[in-house]
Amino acid sequence: MSAPAHRVLVIGGGIAGLVCAYDLTRQGVSVTIVEADEVCGGALASRERAGLATDAGAEAFASQSSAVTELIDDVGLSEQLVTPNPAGAWLQLPELAAPLPATGLLGIPGDPEAEDVIAILGASAAARAAEDSTADVECWRSRWEAVAAGRDRISLAELVADRMGQAVVDRLVTPIVSGVHSAAAEALDVESVAPGLVSLMLREGSLAQAVLARRAQAPAGSAVRSLRGGMHTLTLELIARLRAGGAQIQTGVAVKSLRDIPESYDDIILAVDAPEVARLLGVDATAVTSSGAGESQQVEAGVGVALVTLMLDSEALDGSPRGTGMLVSPAVTEVAAKAMTHVTSKWSWAAEALGPARHLVRLSYGRVDDDSHARPGAHSSDEELLDAARADVAALFGIPRLGEQVREADVVRWRRAIPLSGPEHAGRAAQLRRRVRETSGPGGARLHATGTWFAGTGLSKVVLDARQTARDVLRNVELQGGWRR
Ligand SMILES: Cc1cc2nc3c(=O)[nH]c(=O)nc-3n(C[C@H](O)[C@H](O)[C@H](O)COP(=O)(O)OP(=O)(O)OC[C@H]3O[C@@H](n4cnc5c(N)ncnc54)[C@H](O)[C@@H]3O)c2cc1C
Repeated sequence: MSAPAHRVLVIGGGIAGLVCAYDLTRQGVSVTIVEADEVCGGALASRERAGLATDAGAEAFASQSSAVTELIDDVGLSEQLVTPNPAGAWLQLPELAAPLPATGLLGIPGDPEAEDVIAILGASAAARAAEDSTADVECWRSRWEAVAAGRDRISLAELVADRMGQAVVDRLVTPIVSGVHSAAAEALDVESVAPGLVSLMLREGSLAQAVLARRAQAPAGSAVRSLRGGMHTLTLELIARLRAGGAQIQTGVAVKSLRDIPESYDDIILAVDAPEVARLLGVDATAVTSSGAGESQQVEAGVGVALVTLMLDSEALDGSPRGTGMLVSPAVTEVAAKAMTHVTSKWSWAAEALGPARHLVRLSYGRVDDDSHARPGAHSSDEELLDAARADVAALFGIPRLGEQVREADVVRWRRAIPLSGPEHAGRAAQLRRRVRETSGPGGARLHATGTWFAGTGLSKVVLDARQTARDVLRNVELQGGWRR
């Protein structure tokens, strides 16, 4: 009689949970996925408008790392890989709309005196930024050594202001990071959002050279890629392969407590956000106590995001007048959105599917300072957001306020969608993860945590971490000779 297979429960059917499950199922492990929503995918879900399914959350991935392309290759979707319109995105500043500089990293210019940088900074601020090429970098060495030893942290704003001046922080870095990381540049740890940048600066002799060196390390071609039909098609393919491989997928089931789980699993993977992990462990969701020192630490609440998508008929948008979309500086008071994606300009497959003069525009709401409620944000009602979106599209494209041109409009909300990337976050997440590993699940099951709160923001990091988590589980299977305890 054959022995029962190693059994794994995956809680959370977002991309992290699905990838873990996929890697395990391929190795013959018996996997059950439990997902609270009616559909799997988490932030990699879709929304249908006028018969066209488009991404409701993530829409592309950074191609510097090969993690996502390898996964796409594994699931047979390589031929569907697409790159966005090379026109790129624009920046909206209070008095100016301009294309984002071509050679930047998180807004830090690789060439501070390039024309596209001067257009945004002005000549004197660009000249100040160029002083970076001659200013001594050695004064950063001791700070960097303290960072490497875990005794210090350097914020993105501090580094950029010192090397290139405050105008680069205000006019380039802040609009970008507040859109991408939903955080102020002051709150972002350089090492977590641009790992290795400070050590590259020490090696190359300037921050601009470090940016160029970092860009040169990236594979040639577009910095981001996606799939024809949208990133959510990756979710659909993973689900199809999981079902074919015998995995059990239960949707519409929210796990309330680890105590409710049968004792029949060898490993349990918590592929949910950190506050939910804390809740499942039975620790206060807002305060995780370090197992060693006993100090109380908050697990950040993360940032809520509301996305408003408008499908509209407008010939004024036909020539992609704002490239693939815009990042909006927080200093622009008359626009509430922090970013706008012109979906049909960015992805040719979407334009082809909708036909001429029909456009899909996605606006993103939810700034870090939303608490002030001074303007519409993630806290606002659907009606307020739809109203703000009509006005924002008009302001960003420089066209009259939208009326009957809008064919369809909807709001998708992502609660705690993006973990904070502040200096404290990585340490707290790592601490919670250690605690997960030290805790025994029902029947002695080993516990693991993965997902964006532990891996960092972005699909590449999430996929890499999920695959590592699956390898950790497989090591346990091997240690047990493939047999259950
Ligand atoms: C609006 C938006 C746009 C983004 N755009 C991009 C982008 O363009 N490029 C990029 O690289 N990254 C992007 N990201 C980030 C990226 O999408 C995420 O990092 C990634 O999808 C997170 O995957 P995850 O599996 O860790 O978490 P999630 O997608 O949040 O999945 C977690 C799942 O767990 C389920 N769950 C939670 N609690 C329970 C429970 N108790 N029981 C059962 N199930 C539970 C949830 O319902 C959810 O489905 C974006 C994120 C958002 C929100």
